[in-house]
Amino acid sequence: MKICPEGLYCEPGGFFVDPLRAVDRAIVTHAHSDHARPGHRHVLATAETIAIARQRMGLGAWRSTQALAYGEAVTLGEARVWLQPAGHVLGSAQVAIEYRASRIVISGDYKRTPDPTCAGFEPIPCDVFVTEATFGLPVFRHPPPCHEVGKLLASHHLFPARTHVVGCYALGKCQRVIALLRQAGWHAPIYLHGALANVCQVYTSLGVELGDLRPATTAAKKQLEGAMVLAPPGAVDDRWSRRLSDPVVALASGWMRVRQRARSRGVELPLVISDHADWDELNATIDEVGAPEIWVTHGNEEALIHAAGLRGIQGRALRLLGYGEEEAEIAEPEPA
Ligand SMILES: [Zn+2]
Ligand SMILES: [Zn+2]
Repeated sequence: MKICPEGLYCEPGGFFVDPLRAVDRAIVTHAHSDHARPGHRHVLATAETIAIARQRMGLGAWRSTQALAYGEAVTLGEARVWLQPAGHVLGSAQVAIEYRASRIVISGDYKRTPDPTCAGFEPIPCDVFVTEATFGLPVFRHPPPCHEVGKLLASHHLFPARTHVVGCYALGKCQRVIALLRQAGWHAPIYLHGALANVCQVYTSLGVELGDLRPATTAAKKQLEGAMVLAPPGAVDDRWSRRLSDPVVALASGWMRVRQRARSRGVELPLVISDHADWDELNATIDEVGAPEIWVTHGNEEALIHAAGLRGIQGRALRLLGYGEEEAEIAEPEPA
C-alpha cells in the first residue's frame, strides 16, 4: 500500500481506495461525497454504493462499474480483495486486501452501534488496520441513539403544535433518523426538504422501509404544524425553516456533543446521533481486529495513535486531506 497524492494505492492490485482525484481503477467504500468522487474510469463497490452514488453524481460520473457483494472475493492483479460491512451508511464497506501472506483492511468510515438502515460492521482480523478518527478523542462518547430520539419525541409531546425540524445529512443520517423515529413509534408522515428526498427514494428502492414520507416544500403551512420535518443542516437555521410555524430546531450529529457547536448554529435541541465510531468504539475495534499496526486516515489521529501505542500497537498518521468533508457539508439548494 502506497500513499499517493490521489490517495491510498494498492500497487500489487493496481487500484486506489476512495481516491481523492479521478483515477483509472478505484474501489469506493461508500457513497459520501468525500469518498465517492466523480471521474474514475472503473469503480468497484457494493451495488448499493453504486446506486446511491449514481443518484447523487449522475449516471456518467464513473465510466464503468462492477458491483461486489459482501464477502465475495475477487483477484485484482496479484491481490485478493473483498468487501465487508462497515455499518456506516447503506452499502458502506470495508476493503480487505490480501497480498502474499499479509492482510490489510481499509475500514472507510464506520460505526459499531446497530443501524436499522444498513448491515452492521463485521471485524476482520488483519495485520494492518486503516481507520478513521473523526471522533478520536475521549470526550466523544455517543449516547444510545434511541435515547436521543426519545428527547425529540419528548419535546414534541411538550410542544405538540410546534413544527420539529431536524437537521441531518442527506445520505445516511436522514434515513437513520427516520428509521429510529419509526422504531420509537412515530408512524405519522415525515416531511422532507427537497435535498433529502432523492436519497430516501434510493434507500426505499433498495428495500429499506421508511414509511410515509412527504415533500415539505409543497405542504400547506397548516399541515406542518406539529409535524416532523427533516432538512439538511444548512437549511434548519435559515430562511427555509423560518416559514415553518414556531419551529423547534434540532440537529442530529456526533458534533452535538460539543455544546458550543449547537449553540453557534442556533440549535435548540441537539441530538448526538453519529454515523462514525466514538472513542470507545474506535479503540474496541482496533483491539478486536488484533492488528499490530494501525494507519489513521483523518480526524484526531494523535490521540488515537497515542492510546493504541500504550497497548503496544504501532500507529501511523496518513494525514489524507479531503476526507471528512461530508460531515461539514452545507445545504444543497432546494430543487425547484
Ligand atoms: Zn462517510
Ligand atoms: Zn468520510
